[in-house]
Amino acid sequence: MKEAVLVLIKPDALQKSLTGNILSRISSTDLEIIGAKVVKVSRELAEAHYAHLKDKPFFEDVIDYICGNQHGKHKVIALVYYGENAVSQLRTLAGATNPEEADPTTIRGAYGRITTKGVYENVIHVSDSVESAEREIKMWFSPDELIVDLYPSRTMVEGTRVIRIWE
Ligand code: UDP
Ligand code: MG
Repeated sequence: MKEAVLVLIKPDALQKSLTGNILSRISSTDLEIIGAKVVKVSRELAEAHYAHLKDKPFFEDVIDYICGNQHGKHKVIALVYYGENAVSQLRTLAGATNPEEADPTTIRGAYGRITTKGVYENVIHVSDSVESAEREIKMWFSPDELIVDLYPSRTMVEGTRVIRIWE
C-alpha cells in the first residue's frame, strides 16, 4: 500500500544550501514527489504543525526555528513524497530527532547540530506516521497542489474560481 509523507526542508538547511544534498539523498529511494512548494511559514501554521509540543519548554524556540527567525531565511521547502513504506523509508534516511544521536550517515546526523540554547536544528522534517502525514499534508497543501488524490476532497466555487478543499 502506498503512503504519503510530508517532508520539510527547514530554514537551517536553506541557509546552509543543503537542498540539493537532501533531495539527492532522498532520490536514492523509489519514492515519487507528488507536491512541492516554497512556503513562508506563518506562526499559525507553525503552531498547528507542532501542536504536539505545545507544553514543552522549547516550544517557542521550535516555532521560531521553523518560521526562520533564527536563520534569516523565512521559508521552508515543503514536499509530499509518495510510495511503498514511505514513512519508514524517509524516517530512516532522516535519522534520529537529536542530531548528535543520529547515525552520521543519515541526513540529520550529517548536517544537523544542537544550538547553544539546546534546540535541535536537524535540517529536515519527516512525518512520523501515516496518520500524522495525513494531518500535516492537509495543513500544508490543498488538494489542487497534489498530483494524486490522497484524501477525500470537494469542489467549491470561490468568486470566479472552482477550487478543491479537503473534506
Ligand atoms: N526538538 C527540539 N528538542 C527536543 C525535541 C524536539 O529542539 O528535545 C525540535 C526538533 O527540531 C524536532 C522538532 O522539535 O525536529 C519536532 O519534534 P518531534 O518530537 O516531532 O521530532 P521529529 O518528528 O522531528 O523527529
Ligand atoms: Mg515529529
